[in-house]
Amino acid sequence: MDRYQTILLFGAPGAGKGTQGAILGRIPGFFHLSCGEVFRSLDIHSELGEIFYEYSSKGQLVPDDVTVKMWAENMHAQTVLSLYKPHDDLLLLDGIPRNVHQAELMEEYIEVLGVVHLVCPDKEAMIKRLRRRALKENRIDDAQEDVIRNRWEVYENETAPVLDYYSKDLIIEVDAVGSPASVLQHVLEVVVPIQDSHFNNPISGEED
Ligand code: ADP
Repeated sequence: MDRYQTILLFGAPGAGKGTQGAILGRIPGFFHLSCGEVFRSLDIHSELGEIFYEYSSKGQLVPDDVTVKMWAENMHAQTVLSLYKPHDDLLLLDGIPRNVHQAELMEEYIEVLGVVHLVCPDKEAMIKRLRRRALKENRIDDAQEDVIRNRWEVYENETAPVLDYYSKDLIIEVDAVGSPASVLQHVLEVVVPIQDSHFNNPISGEED
């Protein structure tokens, strides 16, 4: 199997990975997958749904083996449905890998062409963003201050080290502060050249 050609959207909770990923995923030639969204789409009464609830409600990570297995199965399903076409689409992953062990487990599936690190130096501003989103989107994990702070700690202790796992020249920092449009502009400056060098450009309007 060829490995999926991938860009990782990376950043602390509230940095805007999901917002950027969702916009980019609308552009032909990109496929966006958020691991948190896949988890949230599970039936909460299913076995996996219950495991997700147990961990996410405390701001903890779901165990690695379960997570990577679910992710790989979901990716496979997306290819079978032709929603994701590995030979045409650049994969944008958001929220996975979330620690070094997941990055190791995913080596056999993904070839990482770049890591877009959305950087926001103001932790309190991001915590505010998360609380606003929790109210708007009914997210149990971000409704309580202590759960948010725990998610931050998990990010700093477990997720941030993923940046050291990949070669330094793959990592590109993008300022996460600003309007979604201005952050998007900077993200595009990074991802478009990578797409151009690995894929044939889709013809504009092809999918109309
Ligand atoms: P964020 O707001 O940081 O983007 P997500 O929506 O990605 O949060 O994730 C919400 C919750 O889902 C996490 O707190 C965690 O419990 C679980 N989760 C998501 N992705 C992963 C992953 N790769 N590994 C383990 N748990 C995950």
